[in-house]
Amino acid sequence: MSDPNELTVLNPATEEIVATVPAASEEDVAAAVARAVRAQRTWAALAPADRARLLRRFADVVDAHTEELARLEVREAGHTLGNARWEAGNARDLLLYAAGGAERLLGRQIPAPGGWDVTFHEPLGVVGVIAPWNFPMPIAAWGSFPALAAGNAVVLKPAEATPLTALRLAALALEAGLPEHLFQVLPGHGTTAGRALVDHPDVAKIVFTGSTRTGREVMERCARLVKPVTLELGGKSPNVVFADADLTAALDPFSFLDNCGQDCCARTRVLVQETVLDEARALLADALAAVVVGDPADEKTQMGPLISARQREHVRSYVPDDAPALRGSAPDGPGFWFPPTVLTAERPDGRAAREEIFGPVAVLLPFTDEQDAVRLANDTPYGLSGSVWTRDLGRALRVSQAVRAGNLSVNSHSSVRYWTPFGGFKQSGLGRELGPDALTAFTETKNVFISTEGPEK
Ligand code: NDP
Repeated sequence: MSDPNELTVLNPATEEIVATVPAASEEDVAAAVARAVRAQRTWAALAPADRARLLRRFADVVDAHTEELARLEVREAGHTLGNARWEAGNARDLLLYAAGGAERLLGRQIPAPGGWDVTFHEPLGVVGVIAPWNFPMPIAAWGSFPALAAGNAVVLKPAEATPLTALRLAALALEAGLPEHLFQVLPGHGTTAGRALVDHPDVAKIVFTGSTRTGREVMERCARLVKPVTLELGGKSPNVVFADADLTAALDPFSFLDNCGQDCCARTRVLVQETVLDEARALLADALAAVVVGDPADEKTQMGPLISARQREHVRSYVPDDAPALRGSAPDGPGFWFPPTVLTAERPDGRAAREEIFGPVAVLLPFTDEQDAVRLANDTPYGLSGSVWTRDLGRALRVSQAVRAGNLSVNSHSSVRYWTPFGGFKQSGLGRELGPDALTAFTETKNVFISTEGPEK
């Protein structure tokens, strides 16, 4: 049973306690929202250039603390040092990008007879952000920083397993001179603090990242208040590998092992054209055997532990000991370790091929031709991400158009950049984060018609 008043943060690589943090109650959430309402009014009244200047100063302070933030992420989330450094840098870069947006939140002038018609993008007010544990720092940043730049205040509830980097970011915001209570971080339990944020009438929008199950509940509760939501939910993304592809690049195991597979964009359905299936199996076997799994603070480590004992049990439930599979290795002893695994005889309609495992486990599935590949790629309730590998440009374009997912890459496994839109089709979510339109998702559009008619003759 977890303590309703306190959160215990464990190092997933050692199972040692890193910190205990007070858990926010419903009353704490209400008090934070009341403070945020006041802070937002002052913030929105600032000139856009002044808001931008403060956010750039915040970015400078984050920049000066990237190593500290990265090492904190390693300890609380078990991320490899290389990944954690990227994550801290991503938070900094998004701040700079969003700061520019504050000065470019442009309305439109629309022709209308008898006057001028203009639109404005006005801030929503207080935005509630609910973040998961898989990428604590970037996801906190993606929900919060564009919202701040658009003139909103933010109350952020991090996941109970990983509150520390978010708390540190809020402290750095104050150090940079952002107004008090503008960016508040309230660690707490989802079913108390999270729900209280969702249900609060003065929270104008919720940005939720996490499981589809919880996202559905958040959306239902928001519907009662007609409150807008952005949902970034699960994924079961395909990696479609045609026989003519660069197989070594296409079958890079970090397309599903990055962050120990705890990545909503992980390409966990490896779809391989049947004529090269044996070659693909051999390449994957060698690649898995070479993955360095261990202490995430060691510069040489490529894959760390899972986040928790509970998550390890969840992942294990998809990989029976006797399941035909390619397996890498993982340390014994303390820590929530799981070896890199590819299930090689899973049916396309099997549990491991359809459900989000959120661990270092992929399934290998053969396809016959382009039509079969597209059918299999789309045979999932999710639609977040995916890759297409072929040297045939026409086929790459046809398949990219046919796959129902929000973020695809061709001859590449990349998917998330702070300057391009990110979000899912189908049950992977609703709305988009990041990219050039990130700020407008945190505004209401107001239309004003100004009559130019003179006095009646
Ligand atoms: P959840 O979706 O339950 O948690 C995500 C966030 O929502 C956390 O901050 C959580 O708080 C909060 N939360 C939980 N319940 C509520 C609620 N009723 N109202 C408001 N907020 C709530 O994910 P889990 O941590 O339980 O992970 C389970 C599975 O979800 C994973 O195995 C994975 O498949 C998927 N997942 C997907 C993610 C993605 O990026 N798409 C991210 C994380 C998980 P608390 O930490 O207190 O539970």
